[in-house]
Amino acid sequence: MKSDISIKMARCKGCGICVAFCPKQVLALDELGKVRVVNGEACIACGQCELRCPDFAIFVDRVKEAAK
Ligand code: SF4
Ligand code: SF4
Repeated sequence: MKSDISIKMARCKGCGICVAFCPKQVLALDELGKVRVVNGEACIACGQCELRCPDFAIFVDRVKEAAK
């Protein structure tokens, strides 16, 4: 499953909930305390990060495989 993770940096307060709930360790907090995608290839588009974020700062879109 390909996915496109968008993060609204201004809304992210760095609580780490999305990092904790991601089953694939796709996300991490950076040195500024904002969430960052560190392993996008592993994302299974489960939507947990989007569902759990209390500040609506992260969104996951499923992306169709590019047509050949
Ligand atoms: S959609 Fe699921 S696998 Fe992908 S970053 Fe969010 S919690 Fe992790
Ligand atoms: S759950 Fe939301 S506010 Fe908390 S670190 Fe993740 S994106 Fe930022």
